[in-house]
Amino acid sequence: MSEEKDNNRDQNRFCFLCHRSERVTGKLIDLPNNICVCPDCMQKSFDTVNRQMSSGAFNLQGLLGQLSPGLFSGDGAAPVFGRAPEPEKKKKESAPKPVLDRRNILAPHQIKARLDEYVVGQEHAKKVMSVAVYNHYKRVSCRQEPDGVEIEKSNMLMIGPTGSGKTYLVQTLSRLLQVPLAIADATSLTEAGYIGDDIESVLSKLLAAADNDVEQAEHGIVFIDEIDKLAKKRNVNQRDVSGEAVQQGLLKLLEGSEVEVPVGATSKNAMVPMVKMNTSGILFICGGAFPDLDIIIKERLNKQASIGFYADLKDKYDNDPDLLEKAEVEDLRKYGMIPEFLGRLPILFSLSGLDEDMLVRILKEPRNAIIRQYQKLLAMDEVGLQFEDEALRVIAQKALEKETGARGLRAILEEYMLDIMFEIPKDDNIGEVIITKEYLEGTGAPKILMRGIKTLPGE
Ligand code: ADP
Repeated sequence: MSEEKDNNRDQNRFCFLCHRSERVTGKLIDLPNNICVCPDCMQKSFDTVNRQMSSGAFNLQGLLGQLSPGLFSGDGAAPVFGRAPEPEKKKKESAPKPVLDRRNILAPHQIKARLDEYVVGQEHAKKVMSVAVYNHYKRVSCRQEPDGVEIEKSNMLMIGPTGSGKTYLVQTLSRLLQVPLAIADATSLTEAGYIGDDIESVLSKLLAAADNDVEQAEHGIVFIDEIDKLAKKRNVNQRDVSGEAVQQGLLKLLEGSEVEVPVGATSKNAMVPMVKMNTSGILFICGGAFPDLDIIIKERLNKQASIGFYADLKDKYDNDPDLLEKAEVEDLRKYGMIPEFLGRLPILFSLSGLDEDMLVRILKEPRNAIIRQYQKLLAMDEVGLQFEDEALRVIAQKALEKETGARGLRAILEEYMLDIMFEIPKDDNIGEVIITKEYLEGTGAPKILMRGIKTLPGE
């Protein structure tokens, strides 16, 4: 009889942490002091300890509180079974310093000066961005002050031809400000439920860029490229909703709201852990080339010009290279962007297309200019590398022909540098290489100077 009781008791053992019966959990693991826990809780404990140890914030009481609410009064969150553990919001007190301190935000002229080191030209764009970013982070850092004045978000819309440095500007900015950055392609975004990335996936990327630190991610930058591809199709009879729906979907992110974000995935799904993120401190920058926008701008300007005294200047804008700089919200609405969307991107500016001079400057001036990178590589072999000015012009002209802006520069240079990088290490006597125009045009060779000899070989 007492043996049977013992058996019953054994069968009805419960996990000390999750209180589930052994019949449900599988065999319990016996611990000292008559405590037994189920394999799930055991694994969870190991995982949590590992995680906390690696972040340097190990706290046994908090851990047990999390695993078994009720064991300790306080902040224990309900255990979630059958789901991957949610990434925790990092505790404020464990952060070494506040994410944003108003006194530490660089002033606009400082931000611009730092951008100048990396980004050639685009003076207007750099100025507008510096001020907008400065205001944005000031706004974020004083959000809690209850004086009733609420500063609007400074989300931006950047118009610029492909390869003009839109992505590069944003990347440089985020690096200077040391905030996480997510770059998303508007063409891959779809409405929830369709094949493609959910709109929230842009926040998942940001979270990943911030190492799953929600607080950091909430002050990051999201860059959505190719935003012009979301325009409603013009002059088409059937209704086009896909792009428009994504624009609608983005509204709530842009204006600032609490959003459930899948962690480590691009779409919501029962198995993906979710975390809540507030987007009001996130700076959204949208960029696009907006091909043919110039036609719409020209139409508007010509219409204005045909009224009154300026009627005779009808063709004035035909060859205006700075037409995109004159873009207004009205033009973008005509292009197919919805008014609500444009309303949430109050800062509108454009980047100029790159000409030959700009491309030459991009080759040699920025801190990490492509040429400097090659020079550094060869310097490791103690070989000097120079480019004749005329040679740089040839590279710029080739890039212009490709019509891919500055993006083509590296590919072109790579092609010519391949042989140099292959041949130079063969001969220890080579001291310097000078890339000539003739080499790039296929009519000659680069000049090679031997170590210790100041004249060219053969001279
Ligand atoms: P976009 O996003 O406008 O298509 P990117 O930002 O990708 O163009 O630019 C391509 C590359 O060209 C960048 O990685 C950068 O190295 C170079 N680049 C473009 N514009 C500039 C610039 N104004 N100053 C320095 N480098 C630039």
